[in-house]
Amino acid sequence: MSVVVIERDCRGCTKCVKSCPFDAITMENKKAVIGIACTSCGTCIEVCPFDAIVKDEIEKEENDLTLYHDIWVFAEQRQGQLQDVALELLGEGKKLVNARGCDLCAVVCGSNLSHIVDELFAHGAQKVYYIEDDRLNQYTTDGYSIAIGDAIEQYKPEIVLLGATHIGRDLGPCLAVNCNTGLTADCTKLEINEETKGIMQTRPAFGGNLMATIVCPNHRPQMSTVRPGVMERAERVEGSKGELIKVQTKLKDEDIRTKVLEVIKTVKEKVSLTDAKVIVSGGMGLGNAEGFKLLEKLAKAFGGTVAASRAAVDAGWIDHAYQVGQTGTTVKPNIYFACGISGAIQHAAGMQNSGLIIAINTNENAPIFDIADIGITGDLYKVIPEILDEMNL
Ligand code: FAD
Ligand code: SF4
Ligand code: SF4
Repeated sequence: MSVVVIERDCRGCTKCVKSCPFDAITMENKKAVIGIACTSCGTCIEVCPFDAIVKDEIEKEENDLTLYHDIWVFAEQRQGQLQDVALELLGEGKKLVNARGCDLCAVVCGSNLSHIVDELFAHGAQKVYYIEDDRLNQYTTDGYSIAIGDAIEQYKPEIVLLGATHIGRDLGPCLAVNCNTGLTADCTKLEINEETKGIMQTRPAFGGNLMATIVCPNHRPQMSTVRPGVMERAERVEGSKGELIKVQTKLKDEDIRTKVLEVIKTVKEKVSLTDAKVIVSGGMGLGNAEGFKLLEKLAKAFGGTVAASRAAVDAGWIDHAYQVGQTGTTVKPNIYFACGISGAIQHAAGMQNSGLIIAINTNENAPIFDIADIGITGDLYKVIPEILDEMNL
């Protein structure tokens, strides 16, 4: 569905221009013109006093939703290594298949991946769709979206889950467009609706100030990306087996428009916040970049790693790879120290599920104390050395 202006009816009043929340309308020769930023929200249609804007309903061929079944998890691999998020998706997928009554499947792309296929079975996949092709060893948007898109068209999964990693965030929307369906990004909760059997996808909206539950009633597959570190990993059952389905891809060399020449690991890949058992995180209360040296000492004492609030990252004190929160990494360590962090909702979104939250803040009214298990009102430059002293460090 798109939105169009009927040129002959447009009187050039500009009401629609002002109404568009996406600044998608401009005036040309006193006529409204709708640009590519249009999301088809329909606001301008309501506003136009002359009924000069209409929906252009060119609905694609009706989808027979009953043809779709099973839940697929995208098993992301990098350099032949299965990413943890795939195991978390299998853990979540298991709950969903129990509620939906269907099979839990994984789809993996690349070659020489029999070790990954075994791991997927061991973590609960009942079927693995293996698109075995050397050209898929490295991720490319074209290669993966075409190969997996073809497999979706052929096998018709009802739900497809991807990790909200860099790869998943790139692949998900392309796949959704290829399959003429929708995608809910960055979900924090997934449930099956008992009545409709559709998936209810919950994610933070409006800067994290409310949670929105999104459904996809008319198109299949229903697709979601889920942030790494949010869902529980599937249990590993040694020796579990399932059905291996080798998928033939119609991918042609010329379909892949990008060529990966070299993979250079960034700091981000070396920093594994999602796996850390103890995180010592610093914010603006540190006062300067040097403050992270003190946090490193505390982190080392607990065998953990440092992390940061976005404000500390924006100040240039530490790399973005260390950022925790809505626009950073979601973490769930056993212990999370929040040092000089106010506890803004966007920060809390990325760490509130930690086992034990210990906050150190000079302001006793800081919101971080609302979610902390242990709150210490005080200057971190006094409190942390005291903790280290107690530990004889
Ligand atoms: P401040 O809010 O400035 O807090 C500093 C705290 O340190 C204060 O509470 C103060 O009392 C305390 N303090 C000062 N001196 C000391 C001292 N000596 N000892 C102890 N305490 C001291 N933020 C994130 O963290 N992660 C995100 O992913 C993220 N995403 C965002 C996305 C959007 C769309 C938006 C709008 C914002 C996002 N933010 C994010 C920013 C967020 O809203 C806050 O601005 C940010 O988290 C504040 O960082 P802070 O707590 O370090 O700084
Ligand atoms: Fe034209 Fe209607 Fe927009 Fe006015 S509101 S500029 S009449 S399309
Ligand atoms: Fe803007 Fe919505 Fe109208 Fe598109 S439909 S031009 S996004 S108001």
